[in-house]
Amino acid sequence: MVPNSFTLIMRNVVIIGSGCAGNTAAVYSARASLSPLVVSGHEPGGQLSITSEVENYPGFPDGVMGPQLVENMKLQAIRFGAEFINGTVEDCDLSQRPFKLKIDGEWIETRTLIVASGASARWLGLPNEYKLIGHGVSSCATCDGFFYREKEIMVIGGGDTAMEEANFLTRFGRRVTLIHRREEFRASKIMVDRTRANPKIEILTNTVVDDVYDVEKGFVTGAKLRNLVTGETWDRPVDGFFVAIGHIPNTKFLRGQLDTDEEGYLISHGGARTKIAGVYHAGDVQDRVYRQAITAAGAGCMAAIEAERFLEAEGH
Ligand code: NDP
Repeated sequence: MVPNSFTLIMRNVVIIGSGCAGNTAAVYSARASLSPLVVSGHEPGGQLSITSEVENYPGFPDGVMGPQLVENMKLQAIRFGAEFINGTVEDCDLSQRPFKLKIDGEWIETRTLIVASGASARWLGLPNEYKLIGHGVSSCATCDGFFYREKEIMVIGGGDTAMEEANFLTRFGRRVTLIHRREEFRASKIMVDRTRANPKIEILTNTVVDDVYDVEKGFVTGAKLRNLVTGETWDRPVDGFFVAIGHIPNTKFLRGQLDTDEEGYLISHGGARTKIAGVYHAGDVQDRVYRQAITAAGAGCMAAIEAERFLEAEGH
């Protein structure tokens, strides 16, 4: 499984992911003098880096910007000796200790591993959606909202993210249309109420998107909508098409070496433990229920404490 000609650098703790969970694990394990290595992944900073204001992270009575919060955690971890590298874990071998990880072509070894690789945006899977990503199709309002000043914007989804993005995008767009496939919303009542009260947001329930146009022009010009109750279909002009329908856990690189549920979320074997001693999980990669910045941070703390105790018991 692991090629012979690899470069091995032994670490005490490697943390995969640099979101709230990974960075908190880094703070704790760095402060325990374990010199953790954080592999930032393809979405450095995780979900917080693409959110706007976080109003429910304790300790910030006036709210805090998501990217700022996660950057602060990183600086805090670096202060105690954590090392961050940009890179993606492509493969791993957890069959024996030390564990082996392939990061952008190079193999390293670690005595403990904290998987905090989060979850990535889910897409609708429309025929033209992928072709228009970055050309009007987006999964990140805070990243791309700015481009749609006085434009027509559409947000797809009925969860808190969709509500948050729709409200945020009214700062830019002429109008925001929220499309949701059901009558009821999964989002919290406060977010739904805020969305309903926003005069710039129009809500279309029981509605799905059948496709997004226009690949030939190279940018988004409209979407084909369908009412699930009446069956009626119609085209609607749109400039910015924001998909906010949840996430997929980043566990592919584990290639089945840890237990996952049917959607790929890691299964806990008690607290932060996985089925392999010395390998721990933290944050959205395991948590499909709470998925909050504060719960991810708490999980990162738990994973780091587990790693520290494991290393101590092993005499390191
Ligand atoms: P959710 O899983 O909560 O919601 C996803 C939404 O997308 C659902 O309404 C779902 O519809 C819809 N959806 C899923 N697949 C499709 C599809 N193929 N076509 C059309 N619609 C689809 O994800 P979120 O990202 O909104 O939220 C994730 C977690 O993060 C939640 O726990 C949420 O509370 C939390 N969060 C909290 C925030 C805060 O507190 N400030 C802000 C943002 C997120 P259906 O309901 O029909 O299944």
